[in-house]
Amino acid sequence: MQGPSRLELRSRDVGGHRTRAVAGVETPRSLDEVRALVRQATADGHRLYPVSTGRNWGMGSAVPVTDDNVVVDLGGMNRVRSLDLDAGYAVIEPGVTQRQLAALLRDTPWMLNVTASCADTSVVGNGLDRGDGCVRSRVHDVAGLEAVLADGSVVTTGGLDPAGRYHGRVAGPDLTSAFVQHNLGIVTAMAVSLVPRPQTIGLVHGRIPRDQAGTAIGAMTGFLRRGNPAAGLMRVRELTMIPAAGEWTLPAGVDPGLFTILGPLMGSDATVELAEELLRKALIEVEGAEAVRVVDAAEVAPGDPLYARALMAQGIPTCRGVHNALGVTSCDQIDDGPMGFLALLPLLPMHARRTEHILAAMQTAVDRHATALMIEWNLVSTHLANGVIQIFFDRAAPDAPHRAHQLRNDGSCLLRGNGCAIYRSDIDHAAADVWSETSTAGLGMLHRLKTALDPDGLISPGRYGA
Ligand SMILES: Cc1cc2nc3c(=O)[nH]c(=O)nc-3n(C[C@H](O)[C@H](O)[C@H](O)COP(=O)(O)OP(=O)(O)OC[C@H]3O[C@@H](n4cnc5c(N)ncnc54)[C@H](O)[C@@H]3O)c2cc1C
Repeated sequence: MQGPSRLELRSRDVGGHRTRAVAGVETPRSLDEVRALVRQATADGHRLYPVSTGRNWGMGSAVPVTDDNVVVDLGGMNRVRSLDLDAGYAVIEPGVTQRQLAALLRDTPWMLNVTASCADTSVVGNGLDRGDGCVRSRVHDVAGLEAVLADGSVVTTGGLDPAGRYHGRVAGPDLTSAFVQHNLGIVTAMAVSLVPRPQTIGLVHGRIPRDQAGTAIGAMTGFLRRGNPAAGLMRVRELTMIPAAGEWTLPAGVDPGLFTILGPLMGSDATVELAEELLRKALIEVEGAEAVRVVDAAEVAPGDPLYARALMAQGIPTCRGVHNALGVTSCDQIDDGPMGFLALLPLLPMHARRTEHILAAMQTAVDRHATALMIEWNLVSTHLANGVIQIFFDRAAPDAPHRAHQLRNDGSCLLRGNGCAIYRSDIDHAAADVWSETSTAGLGMLHRLKTALDPDGLISPGRYGA
């Protein structure tokens, strides 16, 4: 096995998680090379930890869960195997970045559901960790997979054919999601559902006084549950909590007195107009909601603070948001930069009173650990929100990394105590998060599945508990 590649793992991790010893890094460039690697690892007794672009910031970056893994950096496996512009599917390899796929889709009737992370993150890697894009959760983008199993065999799921074409979900059980947030194989291709490019994208944006957070969640819930005629993922975000005392770190320009309602309304002119009218009605009960504006995403100028969000809403990924949040000028600096970053990702209720209750509980943790955080509600469904709690810290300040980790641990316990399970985890907690939310019989089944396919625990040991 060769030494560190461009990922240069050692302790590169913006989250400052416990350092893991890495046995080496491999950089296969084709399906056959991945198969050869798996066979070699079996012979040598090595464990393999595949990453796509390894930019899982806040959750462990490219660092494996356990020690002594060989990291398999799939960033060089970056072919678009097929693009079906009639049905709206792309079949792509793990190294295909948001930037690459979005550029291919420019001027077509389809666009990519892009995330707010860096343009050079992997569509496959994000989908396998169940990320959120700005149109919907990436759960809805993952249509089928190709994976190499621990015995070197290749399987496809969900209707993806071995020649790399996608025909839609075919009859019979679909094991696609068994590979998501799990470690059954090394995923070498994904069929991705694209988003129809809308006629109009109205970008909703408004800054609301902090004390209206619960009311705003309730109002947005009403809007979605009564039926938002437009597509697009609405967010309540940048709700900031600062500790009563101590030094804390936050991205530049954050105003703790306000939070933001943000998201695209996508569809025909008439659909977007109706959605805006319904949204305004729903927000009547929220004080300060008259500040909410809906702008045409295509008209937002580069100097406008909304520009990055307008690009994303149009399926154009950008690193501007990440640079701004983490105070860097290049995403390559993030894992060694001065600012640390951790993510805590709970399911959150879409309910005004429960929201206030949870915020009060989280404030006690913020005060206890003298560390600031920002909360975001990604309103991915009409049932529950995907919460994104971002914890920023100064990596060089004595004790600040420790306090940030303590806040994440404590916050997680408080949230679970309030009925909010974790939906996406990190290299330190994934096992506990899975075990605490899965029945003994469920864990037994996962164990049997894993040992049937990977009896020696060759692939991604410890990832999401298995
Ligand atoms: C400011 C900021 C904004 C962010 N915004 C968002 C956002 O809007 N939405 C969002 O979801 N995230 C966001 N993130 C978090 C993160 O950066 C993204 O989720 C990113 O896409 C994950 O990194 P990646 O694509 O390189 O995936 P990887 O790091 O390559 O993959 C993630 C994990 O999946 C597994 N895996 C990856 N590829 C394979 C494979 N081929 N086979 C088997 N297992 C595999 C590995 O365990 C790996 O650790 C943000 C982070 C920051 C700092």
